[in-house]
Amino acid sequence: MKKIILNKITVNQNRVDYFFTIEGNLQKYFNKSNHMFLEYNYEISQVPHAILAIPFVANVMPLMWITDSVLIVDVLDKSFYECLKNVKTAYQNMFPNVEFKGKLVVDKIEDHTYTPEHEAASLFSGGLDAVTTFIRVKDKNPLLITEYGWHGDEIQENEVWNADKENAISFAEQYGLENILIQSNYGTFIHAQSIDYDYHKKLGDSWWHGLHHGLAIISAAIPVAFKLRIQCIYIASSNSPQFQVACASDPTVDNHIRYASGMVNHDAYELTRQDKVKVVVDYYSITKEPVQLRVCFKNKENCCNCEKCLRTILSIVAEGRDPRALGFNVPDDLSLHLKLFLDREVKFFTHTFIEIYWKIIQSKMRENQDNIFYKELLEWFMDYNFAEERKKALFKYRVTQFVPIINRRIKTKINRIFANSQ
Ligand SMILES: [Zn+2]
Repeated sequence: MKKIILNKITVNQNRVDYFFTIEGNLQKYFNKSNHMFLEYNYEISQVPHAILAIPFVANVMPLMWITDSVLIVDVLDKSFYECLKNVKTAYQNMFPNVEFKGKLVVDKIEDHTYTPEHEAASLFSGGLDAVTTFIRVKDKNPLLITEYGWHGDEIQENEVWNADKENAISFAEQYGLENILIQSNYGTFIHAQSIDYDYHKKLGDSWWHGLHHGLAIISAAIPVAFKLRIQCIYIASSNSPQFQVACASDPTVDNHIRYASGMVNHDAYELTRQDKVKVVVDYYSITKEPVQLRVCFKNKENCCNCEKCLRTILSIVAEGRDPRALGFNVPDDLSLHLKLFLDREVKFFTHTFIEIYWKIIQSKMRENQDNIFYKELLEWFMDYNFAEERKKALFKYRVTQFVPIINRRIKTKINRIFANSQ
């Protein structure tokens, strides 16, 4: 029987460490130290172990389900324990090709409750999704939760985290809000590549994207949400019904999560990315408040030269605003910059990205022609045929990649023929 036993939870002021042992063929899915930790900017020593156990269970449980294994813990919060069956069903529906089995054995289930003192806390990366959700829940004075889960076994200085943190702190200051800051190794204590090696094909998705990140990110905040008596944790949606994808963070999963007297709300799923740009653009046009959107993944600032940066920049332009007002340091000749980028990168665009992002930007720009800040774009961008250009670029790419290979093969063959005939 494959088993994971949570042996020990130790708490030291603002940090909690989890130590576990593994029985059966599961060690390959974990880094050798068998240790997870969370560190907060809040003291958490008074938080009961039944609540502290939640993040560990949340990180590991989906793996127990797909590998038909047992997780054993001493104590767990009743609300969380009970919500897991709904979470499991939601994932099972999302990934019908893998049978979700396994179980959770808890020695003692404790019923913790509180009367909420804060209406909301909102996960906040500083990106478009998070800022949209912030605008939508601003009236509830949300605490802003910002996380970094990519440390190794210990915390080490990290530039990306420092930049994320500084941005979140100054954003909160601007609105008189409090920050919840969380550092962890939840992204590294599980060896995702090994799980992907065994399950990517069956799941049709990676472990981190399909099953891990949503629960990891939300559950990390639960011990502090308990301490501060927060009624609801808001997580911004990254997807929309316009294109349904399997994803660990999905309304069918997140909205079932419960802890003590708290709940989770997966926000703004009904909005497309372009709709969100409009929410943000409209809000900042009216309030004139300064803002720096942070969309570039794992970068200190927006590079303005990757698909995600340029897609966001063009979405803002299409709404009739200058992206420089929202934290993008774009070159003066944006039209040329975009042309060069597409020449280089359009071959890597997926059909989905073209349909759900780029074509919507084009039609928005058509609607908004009179308000476009960078007029040169109007001369070509709206008629740019992404599918066609991608096809051409791919063909060119393949020819340039394959001609030298074929040449080499022909040469080798000719040499062989000569060698044999001599
Ligand atoms: Zn970028």
